[in-house]
Amino acid sequence: MTKAETNRPLIRLEGLKKVFYTDEVETHALAGVHLDINQGDYVAIAGPSGCGKSTLLSIVGLLDSPTEGAYLLHEKPVQQLKASQRARIRNLEIGFIFQSFNLIGDLTVYENVELPLTYRKGVGRTERKQRVMQSLDRVAMTHRAKHYPSQLSGGQQQRVAVARALVGAPSILLADEPTGNLDSKNGEAVMDLMRELHQGGATICMVTHDPRFARYAERTIHLFDGRIVEEETGNGIETARGERGKPIAPEPAPGERS
Ligand code: ADP
Ligand code: MG
Repeated sequence: MTKAETNRPLIRLEGLKKVFYTDEVETHALAGVHLDINQGDYVAIAGPSGCGKSTLLSIVGLLDSPTEGAYLLHEKPVQQLKASQRARIRNLEIGFIFQSFNLIGDLTVYENVELPLTYRKGVGRTERKQRVMQSLDRVAMTHRAKHYPSQLSGGQQQRVAVARALVGAPSILLADEPTGNLDSKNGEAVMDLMRELHQGGATICMVTHDPRFARYAERTIHLFDGRIVEEETGNGIETARGERGKPIAPEPAPGERS
């Protein structure tokens, strides 16, 4: 990545709308979301149940498409791409962490973390092994590589899920209520891990229902009825006006990350 690229948003959402149609009922899950996420940002998305948090994260993670609006990743529109191209971008650029861990039960910890790399061309067995063990090391789970998910605690499973999300060196880590199924001690451990990853340069976008955990982020976006109604940063609270303001988060230092 060149220096010029690091000065532009990694992700830009413009007037994003999402309508779900079911049994003659229209649900406006997103009603015009504008958001920039810069490289190195740690953004929390907060708001009441049903306000569109998961829908927003699914669209950013290319698991779903908006009904209207634009999504630019590295300044390129992504919503018009074919399913296979979207899958490829998802594999290369996006790491996803879910509330319910979503590990595959009949694969070992090692195999779960390896899985995203097996879909990549040109990553051989030796490199895979090196990257899997590095990822497991980052979440302190190398000693459980041969275990199965059912043999682990929830906190350990979520750490493995974080390793799986990291193994492909994605541009952005997306987490949908990653602490939602954990007790407070394990929840804090996962949040500490995310903070560490952010301090190491990772870009993170996390949905959370818990204001204690939103504080780990440097920006908190408050959604209500599918709109951003407020953004909190270290500098205070801004009320959204339905148009994009200047990016508030500091730019990453040039050359800081490869
Ligand atoms: P949150 O994650 O903030 O709880 P969601 O993004 O899951 O909210 O949902 C936003 C709204 O869209 C809710 O009213 C929800 O019922 C609706 N919704 C979400 N997914 C679907 C779907 N696949 N089909 C129909 N309605 C949906
Ligand atoms: Mg949700």
